[in-house]
Amino acid sequence: MSDDHLRKGLRVAPGERPRLDRIDPGDTLGLADREEAAAVVAACGERLEALQALLASEDRRSLLLVLQGMDASGKDGVVRALCGALNPMILHTASFGVPTKPELRHDFLWRITRELPERGRMAVFNRSHYEDVLVVRVDGLVPEDEWRARYGQITRFEERLAETGTAVVKVMLHISRDEQLGRLRERAQDPLKRWKFSADDLRKRDQWDAYMAAYEDAIERTGTDDAPWYVVPADRKWARNALVLEIVAHVLERMRLPEPPVPEGLPPGFLEDPAGG
Ligand code: AMP
Ligand code: MG
Repeated sequence: MSDDHLRKGLRVAPGERPRLDRIDPGDTLGLADREEAAAVVAACGERLEALQALLASEDRRSLLLVLQGMDASGKDGVVRALCGALNPMILHTASFGVPTKPELRHDFLWRITRELPERGRMAVFNRSHYEDVLVVRVDGLVPEDEWRARYGQITRFEERLAETGTAVVKVMLHISRDEQLGRLRERAQDPLKRWKFSADDLRKRDQWDAYMAAYEDAIERTGTDDAPWYVVPADRKWARNALVLEIVAHVLERMRLPEPPVPEGLPPGFLEDPAGG
């Protein structure tokens, strides 16, 4: 089965403004049920196993996956799904919360730069430099001319990453306001989920439309061929995970990672089967 159809409907063309109110967060892009999604996850797992080995053995380029989305949209869940599919030795994860004092003493990309993937590795960002044009804009944390200038700064930053060997892909997990309410309520109720609950999430929920406008602007202004945006419907966790894994496998395939050569300096006969077939 080709998984192309899964990805096609998700990618936002460079410069296109996504209409988030017209993208159904409950969409599964044709995945019928959990079973079919599980099959996609398994197939992606196999592809990713080979791809990460090629990425590591090439030891030259890297991949950065940026995850953005409203609270409870599933960023943590996607990170867990990726951890299940990738060797932890090649996967680096980083979360970006409210900037610390030292972070605020630097420009907004400083803390981002420090978490970029090494050669041969992949990094997943749970939130990112995009918070600096999302929450910062909605809450008015810096003057408008400052956050507006960041779209260009981000685009140039990501362009440089692409040029120097780091493929960049950005995913917005698109959850509905109703589904979010259910998940936040569950977080408040369930003692095992309570650590994730923040009363501030309810305040952000009230700013929903402002956030959607900020997301639409960010996606429109920073989507490029080298660092594209994908909007992934996120109301169904099983579809969401399958779709993101499919995107990551696709991006790694597009890097056309070469098969590594046979190692040099092997003793004579080393590669021959000792059982003597
Ligand atoms: P969580 O991801 O639930 O742990 O929450 C992290 C919080 O940090 C979110 O409410 C973000 O909006 C906030 N945050 C992340 N980056 C920034 C930033 N640059 N400025 C202000 N708040 C931020
Ligand atoms: Mg939170």
